[in-house]
Amino acid sequence: MDWQSRAVAQVKTLHPYVPGKAIELLMAEKGLSEVIKLASNENPFGPSPKAVQAVQQAALNMHRYPDGDAIALRQALAEQHQGAIENILLGNGSNEALELLIRCFAGVDDEVIYASRGFIVYALATKAAGATGVAVEEQDGLTHDLQGMLDAINAQTKVICIANPNNPTGTLLSRADLQVFLDQVPENIIVILDEAYYEFIAQHVDDHQTLIHAGLVICRTFSKAYGLAGLRVGYAVADAAIIALVNRFREPFNVNLLAQKGALAALDDQAWMKEKVEMTLFEREKMECFLEEVELLTGCSYGNFVLLSHAQAADIATGLENRGVIPRPLAPYGMAETLRISVGSEAENNQFIHALISVMRELDA
Ligand SMILES: *Cc1c(COP(=O)(O)O)cnc(C)c1O
Repeated sequence: MDWQSRAVAQVKTLHPYVPGKAIELLMAEKGLSEVIKLASNENPFGPSPKAVQAVQQAALNMHRYPDGDAIALRQALAEQHQGAIENILLGNGSNEALELLIRCFAGVDDEVIYASRGFIVYALATKAAGATGVAVEEQDGLTHDLQGMLDAINAQTKVICIANPNNPTGTLLSRADLQVFLDQVPENIIVILDEAYYEFIAQHVDDHQTLIHAGLVICRTFSKAYGLAGLRVGYAVADAAIIALVNRFREPFNVNLLAQKGALAALDDQAWMKEKVEMTLFEREKMECFLEEVELLTGCSYGNFVLLSHAQAADIATGLENRGVIPRPLAPYGMAETLRISVGSEAENNQFIHALISVMRELDA
């Protein structure tokens, strides 16, 4: 049976998301006993002990359905964002929130605008929704071209997606530039501002500079700074009418019991999160200094990752993997000469640096 001919049209040209290589997989492939993964921008320090405790306790109740409205977690997030519970949509990872938003507002004949090197999920979700993606080239290969994105708006435009800081390029748009941009976007267009790395730039952001646009949707996640990637919790903050519509698309229990409890405890432990962010920023600077010294550093990252460029990036990636270090090649983003390296713990970063030095020697030989 030719199932492809039976599938909906958009699925035929859809390629599945390629995640960072799993540690166990590389171990098996290369027969290595120790492997570190610097490929998915995870928090190398693990979750808050309070989150772990909350999850352990919740596990005893996992024969029960979770609160389908996740009142406690949404209430806590509403307070943090100085909004109401009606302004908060939870997702199974912010990835799901992004998918639901795009599916809710963009269908066949509609267009979704994003940067050509924006987070790849925007393109995948757009295609899955049957809508048309409009990828706008970056000006310098890395930074969002906001004027270009404005120029791409037409009557079919329903959604614009911007990650800030951007993954994978690490660039940051200022609040002021974003507001000038938002002022020119028609009010009836949804603007998704994906702030998955917000906690890493929080010290640069003036909280009084609240961004204003009727269709603005802020997406955040517990996967990066909070260290809960495995639990899958993220959320969107927007006008209550927008959230209510997207909520119709949501599965009844999309955020599971352990995720709700773990995220609530993690949110409550701000001190822990902020300390790990500081450690990450400290380690990022060390990695940048090293990469600069060996003339491999590209761009200036505001996330918990750095970029490394070299004509033989693919060989470097293989060399690193042979030495038990998993990088993230950016070829799927059209950046065949660039690798993204997540900032790990001090020990992991040292291991990466040693591996890289050894790989470069091998390539020079
Ligand atoms: C990691 C990431 C996300 C997705 O995170 P979830 O684990 O699904 O919450 C979303 N946007 C960007 C830009 C990311 O890098």
